Amino acid sequence: MEWLSEKLKKTNRKIKPALLDQKILVGLGNIYVDEALFRAKIHPERIANSLTRDEEAVLYREIVSTLSEAVEKGGSTIRSYVNSQGQIGMFQLQLYAYGRKGEPCKVCGTPLEKTVVGGRGTHYCPACQKLK
Ligand SMILES: [Zn+2]
Repeated sequence: MEWLSEKLKKTNRKIKPALLDQKILVGLGNIYVDEALFRAKIHPERIANSLTRDEEAVLYREIVSTLSEAVEKGGSTIRSYVNSQGQIGMFQLQLYAYGRKGEPCKVCGTPLEKTVVGGRGTHYCPACQKLK
């Protein structure tokens, strides 16, 4: 996770647009970023370089597990899922956040919210992903 940590340390942008930046992570699309941030319990508007070591470690782990789960459920290689924008497609991944505005959080039951971060529709749980 060191490479991710170093890139995040160098930016004072919000974490969501930082993760969507193809110079930081190639192929992580909007849906995956929402899912990984939800699973890591990190608010999408947190400033990237304000993450603690522990938060970075959890985020890294959740990015990896979200992507591998998507690939596993698709039952093929990652190459099959890359779309024309070079992003990995969304298949049978169980969605916790994306597209669930107003629906109860699968962890705590709080209705999920939708906002716009860095120009992209962003879904999150206001209780699990507190803005610190
Ligand atoms: Zn929640």
